[in-house]
Amino acid sequence: MANLSLKHIYKIYENGTRAVDDFNLEIKDDEFIVFVGPSGCGKSTTLRMIAGLEEITAGDFYIDGVLANNLEPKNRDMAMVFQNYALYPHMSVYDNMAFGLKIRHVNKEEIDKRVHEAAKILDIENQLDKKPKNMSGGQRQRVALGRAIVRKPKVFLLDEPLSNLDAKLRSAMRSEITRLHNVLKTTFIYVTHDQVEAMTMGSRIVVMKEGVIKQVDTPMNLYDYPENIFVAGFIGTPQMNFINAKLDYNKDEVLLKTDFKDISCSISDISRIDKINIINKKDIVIGVRPEHILITNKDDINAIECEVSIIENLGNEANIIVETINNKEKLVIKTIRNDSLNVGSHIYIKFDIKKIHLFLKEDEQSLLNRMPKSFTINAKLFNKELTLLNNKILLNDYLFNKINGNKELLLNIPVDALNIGNDFELIVTKKEKINNKWLYEVKLNNEYLYYINDNYIDGDKLNLSIDLSKVSFYDLNGNLILDKLNKDNIIDGELTEIKKKLPCKKNNLVDVDLYNKYLLALSNNDTNLLKELNIKEKVRKVFNYKLLNTEIETSIENIIKIYGLLGKKFYLHHIAYILNADNLKMEERGEIRGVIEEIIDFNISKYYKVKLIDLDKTIIIKDNDNKSNINDSVNILIDKDNIGVIDKDFNVRLI
Ligand code: ADP
Repeated sequence: MANLSLKHIYKIYENGTRAVDDFNLEIKDDEFIVFVGPSGCGKSTTLRMIAGLEEITAGDFYIDGVLANNLEPKNRDMAMVFQNYALYPHMSVYDNMAFGLKIRHVNKEEIDKRVHEAAKILDIENQLDKKPKNMSGGQRQRVALGRAIVRKPKVFLLDEPLSNLDAKLRSAMRSEITRLHNVLKTTFIYVTHDQVEAMTMGSRIVVMKEGVIKQVDTPMNLYDYPENIFVAGFIGTPQMNFINAKLDYNKDEVLLKTDFKDISCSISDISRIDKINIINKKDIVIGVRPEHILITNKDDINAIECEVSIIENLGNEANIIVETINNKEKLVIKTIRNDSLNVGSHIYIKFDIKKIHLFLKEDEQSLLNRMPKSFTINAKLFNKELTLLNNKILLNDYLFNKINGNKELLLNIPVDALNIGNDFELIVTKKEKINNKWLYEVKLNNEYLYYINDNYIDGDKLNLSIDLSKVSFYDLNGNLILDKLNKDNIIDGELTEIKKKLPCKKNNLVDVDLYNKYLLALSNNDTNLLKELNIKEKVRKVFNYKLLNTEIETSIENIIKIYGLLGKKFYLHHIAYILNADNLKMEERGEIRGVIEEIIDFNISKYYKVKLIDLDKTIIIKDNDNKSNINDSVNILIDKDNIGVIDKDFNVRLI
């Protein structure tokens, strides 16, 4: 059993192929994780990086909390099962299973015990004397599994293990492997391009496309709440129907305007949508699963007239393919069998509005996220008083001037801009537990507000405050008046070479884990541990951050990390640093000089826009207690442990 943690993992092959792109995943010790996605999306590469068979280009990989990027495969305690079983043809089943243990010098009795245990689990006890060539594909794959089981690894890695088997055997082996996971209760990571395998086996599924994770969730959540068009289309057969549409509204009615019908729905049907998309009449894609298209009658306000073009009867169910009369758009419907329907029949259908999915056309992301990310509510600004949701907030001069006087507004509020506080008192209309978090819904005057907290809050009252620096202000026509504050300052910089004594192993590798153990051994004066670590100190060329004309010494962990990456394949000339406003301070001893251009005061938090002296750039700094004024010169102190580093040539986040 092992906990695995993958943080900002990248793989860029020598030829420039970007196989895995910013992969982040936490795997708990007895999970069955499936990587699924079309061929070439980076599943095997990720698995091979976990196994140690492929070098990690950038990012951190931890096994049980210990950095393992440079750990030899044989020391990872993982066993891999491949598509081609790679059994030794001249050896018996017994010897095939025992081989890995023999070369690890496990004693004979132990080998015998483990081979028999594994054979029993796999039901091949009476086949141990056979040669692989006399066995069926399914039996051979069982031997390959047996070879992994006898090693008692912490993690099983399975790369398309069933692809060579016929459909019937595949289905039998699927349940076999699930059973094996239940018996062994250890971490399984399983790679497949087959969505049925993924849906039936995984406790959680990682859906990938072009090296990027598109969603990580349980099988049923992927089906019910796909976060984007790719996942929606990848999971489920027949595939979800996708229809281009435009959002519009008419009083309290929302319209989904398609080429064949203006579909009407109430805001309560799609309450999780951020209203700003409706006001801005965004182009969207409606997603509707075949089982969520219902046959209705002509009088239904959302009825769509169609002609039946194909009927596929599947026993008690049928897939019916229809074409809309208006523009011949094809839709697939899944219903119980209906013998009165014929090809050529005219029928009326409607979408089950409570079950539809809406995706924004421009980024293909869901507009109806299970956990809403933002919402938009109406507000009125009068004499510096902002009235929203039957509550009032007093604005200070900065915001009042920026908004430019009294007017009606729309406030676009990210869910994370709300905190427990004293600005509002609201009555909760719904509480829902989603993936270990609590979602609170407030409905007031046909407007919806969402708040997320890790904990359950008793009673029906929510007392909240709002971080106005995260809010975007619009007029009633959806034109932006004041955008949220962007607090990520990105500054071009360099790395400078310096020389430092670093602990090295025989193979010259330096890693953070080794370094920490080394420090521990030194501080405890633990000569045994020092000996065991087999470390030499060597002067190495490493790097410091150079920002403007200032060199900033980084933490040793970061130096090693960049060194490890650079030493391998990067020749970084173009670096950018991400400095979050919260990690900067104005202090006498600060390294970087600037002049205050603007003071941005949001009631509870205060920010400064500072123009840097040596660079044509302004940055944002949070400082609630500072008393500086506009045009004051200031020194800026950087929290050197919290600098993000981006390689601009490869577009990779290194730290
Ligand atoms: P999957 O397992 O999802 O089919 P892979 O991880 O095998 O995908 O491959 C991901 C991408 O990396 C593909 O574009 C593939 O062509 C490329 N790739 C895989 N191995 C190498 C390699 N050794 N050198 C260069 N490119 C590779």
